[in-house]
Amino acid sequence: MSAQPSSPHHVLVLNCGSSSLKFAILDAISSEEIISGLAERLGSSSPSIKYKYLGKKYLLELTANQAHKEAIDTLVKLINEQNLASNLIAVGHRVVHGGEHFTKSMLIDDAVIKGITQAATLAPLHGHANLLGIASAQAAFKGLPQVAVFDTAFHQTMEKVAYLYALPYKLYTDYGVRRYGFHGTSHYYVASQTAELLDQPIEQSNFISAHLGNGCSVCAIKNGKSVDTSMGLTPLEGLMMGTRSGDIDPGLFNFLTTQLNYDAQQIDDLLNKQSGLLGISELSNDCRTIEEAAVAGNEKAILALEMFCYRLAKQVAAFMVPLQRLDALIFTGGIGENSDIIRDKVITQLAYLGLDCDNGANLAARFGTQGVISSQHASTKAVVMPTNEEWVIARDAAAIAQEL
Ligand code: AMP
Repeated sequence: MSAQPSSPHHVLVLNCGSSSLKFAILDAISSEEIISGLAERLGSSSPSIKYKYLGKKYLLELTANQAHKEAIDTLVKLINEQNLASNLIAVGHRVVHGGEHFTKSMLIDDAVIKGITQAATLAPLHGHANLLGIASAQAAFKGLPQVAVFDTAFHQTMEKVAYLYALPYKLYTDYGVRRYGFHGTSHYYVASQTAELLDQPIEQSNFISAHLGNGCSVCAIKNGKSVDTSMGLTPLEGLMMGTRSGDIDPGLFNFLTTQLNYDAQQIDDLLNKQSGLLGISELSNDCRTIEEAAVAGNEKAILALEMFCYRLAKQVAAFMVPLQRLDALIFTGGIGENSDIIRDKVITQLAYLGLDCDNGANLAARFGTQGVISSQHASTKAVVMPTNEEWVIARDAAAIAQEL
């Protein structure tokens, strides 16, 4: 990494989670990363900021209980000390939930804040953090355009048949209860990069992208547009994830409340924080730890991996209904970009779709390296494509800022 602070296309990208803040300054044209970091455990007794600048890593301890505002104030100080502010042309915010209001990235004004506030009722923890991040950044960077990039926007091309739940229709019309989907920025990015890699127009490409990180989702992309995705009203639906259950029988709620006296918060914690790879392996939510344990013969770790892959393959197969024809299955996210074991297991279960796995190519496409991992004989390609959500946010923010 070499910092060239003379570029006029630098964008500060902010990604506020409920107790964290990921940040980066990127060049919107070249994708060069100038500085990047993560503020963690915000609001707790030991918040801190880790960051990387000019190839070196730093750690700053924050005062106990300091949260997003103080983290952004510290970041602003750092940006000013390193003379990075004068090259900024915009701030781009990753906003988790855009509801039905937002089908594309937006310059943040009062109406956009109102829309984000309304959508925040659907994802209170994330929505509140996003709004805090926007307010703090607006105060800190008064002259800079602020742009919201929504995780849900890419999926707004889904049809009703895909996005409605089979619930009373009024829950949709009166309260917005429907499937929205998430990871949209990532699915969009890896699909467009894969179209380039395969040298075929995105408008004529049918892909399924599997974003497999701590959160996991699959997206069916037909002629470049999202037609279905596995996450729903919240990022809990669909695949088995690190600590999230993914799909379950909704009848479980009644069982947990009447038989085990769970309340709503306990159910939420069970499904979001204690399930998935962690729940089955009883070991870890981290795929690397589970793979190591599985290789050493740990039966629950083996089962967790088998379940993860089986459920993923099943979801990919289901998306053949809207797609009918598949050009490529794309793997991305921490697991998708690195785990040759999981990719091989999933592809093996999907051989009837014309997929296969070339062992050498599968091993080579790790740690940030993209590539086709199917053999020449495969009628459907398997592709590993590292995601770069920050760059998409920076590009959108720069494009909107330059139109002003
Ligand atoms: P993300 O949320 O995209 O950062 O992805 C986090 C997940 O990626 C965790 O489950 C990690 O264990 C997993 N991961 C990262 N590196 C590897 C690797 N080399 N092999 C397997 N899983 C990995």
